[in-house]
Amino acid sequence: MSDDPVSRRAVVQSIAASTLLSGIPIMSYAETAFTQRMTVGDLTVTALSDGHFDLPAEAFQNVGTHSLASSLRAGATLWAISTGTRSILVDAGSGDFLKAKYPATGQMVERLTAAGINPKTVSDIIVTHMHADHIGGLMKDGQPVFPNAVLHMSEVEWTYWTAEDRPSNVPAGQKPLAGLIQSIANGLPYARQLHAGAADLGEGVRLVPAPGHTPGHAMVHLSSGADQLLLLGDAMIAGPLQFERPQVTYVLDSDPELALQTRLALFERIVADEVAFCATHLNGLGKMRLERAGDSYQGYQADA
Ligand SMILES: [Zn+2]
Repeated sequence: MSDDPVSRRAVVQSIAASTLLSGIPIMSYAETAFTQRMTVGDLTVTALSDGHFDLPAEAFQNVGTHSLASSLRAGATLWAISTGTRSILVDAGSGDFLKAKYPATGQMVERLTAAGINPKTVSDIIVTHMHADHIGGLMKDGQPVFPNAVLHMSEVEWTYWTAEDRPSNVPAGQKPLAGLIQSIANGLPYARQLHAGAADLGEGVRLVPAPGHTPGHAMVHLSSGADQLLLLGDAMIAGPLQFERPQVTYVLDSDPELALQTRLALFERIVADEVAFCATHLNGLGKMRLERAGDSYQGYQADA
């Protein structure tokens, strides 16, 4: 075995995960490469892969001296949180809306089912932001996938994307996306709770503004006892690229400069508070931690 601390941590993580699973005999749950169960105090968090994206290198700007491969594989993770009384989903994946361009997306329902979670039992869905890869999975063939769920999201986000003139009032490259988002949003038969600023959703679950990627982009802060986990959504897109160089921006960032400020502030908080985090498009489902390395950061897997 290598002396590399990252490798040791990965081994510890897999041992911790298998110990944890064997301790929950009442759940019929088989962990796969596409699902991973974690705990945050009394909360159970199941990370689920909705598939992946192969993003062209041109989607990333301000890469400095980094020479990128022609495409970067980005994961597509969402999270199911069990509080004991509620089943809360964070984002819903792409559904069928992006399969033509990204055929490996839209696997969420199969992954939920594999993890023993019935979509009908989901009580709340937190939408980090309204890009199609986060809200597409709310609908299937014109019907709601989660018929008993209430949506929670930033009021700024909802107002921005549903503005009547939005499809013609975004940068040229984002017009098709804005039209798609609006067509999905207009057909959502879900109860909505729109939140201005940070919102306490109870039982250790908070919605916290993290703007820049989109105007109302928000992350989720979980806390239970002394344990915490940040679900960053798209406050970062590409790891390890943006760990090494947080200044790298993504073509769909609504406000790249604000996205960078948000990312840097989050990275500093994660390091200072030694808090674990996950992010939608990282390759890997487990908890991560960050260390500072000069002007850049190093991400590594944390214990489950
Ligand atoms: Zn995304």
